[in-house]
Amino acid sequence: MTDLDLLVLGSGVAGLSAAVQAATADGGVRVGVLSKADLHQATTRWAQGGVAAVLGGDPDSTDLHLADTLSAGAGLCDVDAVRILVDEGPGRVQDLIALGAVFDLDAAGGLAFAREGGHSVARVVHAGGAATGAEIERALVEAVGLTAASVMEGWFAVDLLVENGRCRGVVALDPSGRRHEVRATHTLLATGGGGQLYSVTTNPAEATGDGVAMALRAGVAVADLEFVQFHPTALHHPQMPRPLLSEALRGHGALVRDANGERFVDELKPRDVVSKAMAARMLAQGVEHLWLDATGLESFPARFPTIAADLAAAGLDPAVDWLPIAPAAHYSIGGILTDLDGASALPGLWAAGEVACAGVHGANRLASNSLLEGMVFAARVVEAIERGKDGCEETGAMRPSNWLHLRANRPVSAANSSDTTKIREQIQHAMTIGAGVVRDAASLAGVDLPMPAPADRVDVCEVRNLATVGAALVAAAEAREESRGCHTRTDFPETSPALARRFVIGT
Ligand SMILES: Cc1cc2nc3c(=O)[nH]c(=O)nc-3n(C[C@H](O)[C@H](O)[C@H](O)COP(=O)(O)OP(=O)(O)OC[C@H]3O[C@@H](n4cnc5c(N)ncnc54)[C@H](O)[C@@H]3O)c2cc1C
Repeated sequence: MTDLDLLVLGSGVAGLSAAVQAATADGGVRVGVLSKADLHQATTRWAQGGVAAVLGGDPDSTDLHLADTLSAGAGLCDVDAVRILVDEGPGRVQDLIALGAVFDLDAAGGLAFAREGGHSVARVVHAGGAATGAEIERALVEAVGLTAASVMEGWFAVDLLVENGRCRGVVALDPSGRRHEVRATHTLLATGGGGQLYSVTTNPAEATGDGVAMALRAGVAVADLEFVQFHPTALHHPQMPRPLLSEALRGHGALVRDANGERFVDELKPRDVVSKAMAARMLAQGVEHLWLDATGLESFPARFPTIAADLAAAGLDPAVDWLPIAPAAHYSIGGILTDLDGASALPGLWAAGEVACAGVHGANRLASNSLLEGMVFAARVVEAIERGKDGCEETGAMRPSNWLHLRANRPVSAANSSDTTKIREQIQHAMTIGAGVVRDAASLAGVDLPMPAPADRVDVCEVRNLATVGAALVAAAEAREESRGCHTRTDFPETSPALARRFVIGT
């Protein structure tokens, strides 16, 4: 195989946005998209609520979107990165519409805007009600199919190929498990997050933190791993990913009840407050889930058709059944450190989307900013490569003056089984108990992560990646002796101004 100009790893909103843009640029850029499952398989297609972007004119403004994002980020957002996000976001949504993505319209035929928690005005565009991600993924998969980009479906990226201090592509397993070097001048990591680190997650099975693990093994700087956003009300059901029982249910009067049927939290408080109260109650009562009582809600199926369908599939009737719920790992805030153009600390390696840490989310992500981040920073990567940029600059989150270096040398233990399903569950259990919604020094110290011996098998690679990322996440959570954003230490409940820094592993 001849070297590609750009190798894109991952086929979610970030990877495919970059691939389409690069492959349609003048100059015949040779683009390859390598993804471990079918092209449409990505967390992106599960996204529900929408994309936050200032498309509606007054009374909204990008300044207000910026302020809301900074407020959610609890002192750790990079203001320049957020400025880029909110300023360039609307244009990227328009690009997506031009590619064929169909968003919901209001009665007057304009884009319909929804308001979500943390947003001071309605600015979230959505598709198919709560099927925004599926529509974006559909449009991008179709668009990339119309380009000359080569597509490697069912290929698994194992490790970065680093030669003479530069990323030259990846070592990957083809669908039959054979090892190959896939070489490229530029490599874009767009491999998404790591929700599978936890027993209960809204993320699909492929969200195993592979990109961050590859970066950690190659010594490429990663940051903010301790910040994991949990969604309070995921349906506690064997189905994975866990269906979300939207905040709207609580907004309409659904009640959160503990194992004894008692209420214990104001259901209208923000996500992190409800998640923390639930986690504490579950721990105190020694139970795996609590209950959402929506029996008092009228016209449930008509008001919430998607949720009603999920519940029916799980054999639950919200008119009579209390619904089992538990907080679920939802979004990985940290990732590979990038500058304002998505350049990582390793020349030739770029990162965009949930795998990256561009500094836009700080210590807590504002709802519906992540699809936007994927579009905006993927486009900036392609533009930077086109203008000949090679290597990172000290911009955005890539500013060492705001870093605190950590050593990710937390030990893992050798797995005593070759059953990767079992090992994955052990990792998930250890992370959920020790480094979940609430943590303290003792719970973090108790996290034991089994690591299987290396093998050229996807299941083995994935659990190895989970153990690698889990160990780094725990090290960062141990070091962050404060509570900030979605990182809650019961032994350090206050926010420490001295720790308003990015914890960086690698370099
Ligand atoms: C239930 C749910 C609802 C959400 N709702 C919203 C919302 O309303 N608005 C919003 O902004 N965000 C939402 N999010 C978050 C958002 O969907 C994600 O942050 C975003 O889609 C991530 O996009 P991405 O392109 O970075 O990664 P992904 O979409 O996760 O894509 C990653 C890709 O990389 C591939 N990959 C991974 N590892 C490898 C490997 N080793 N080798 C090869 N390929 C690999 C995967 O197969 C996949 O194709 C939601 C998330 C969930 C789970």
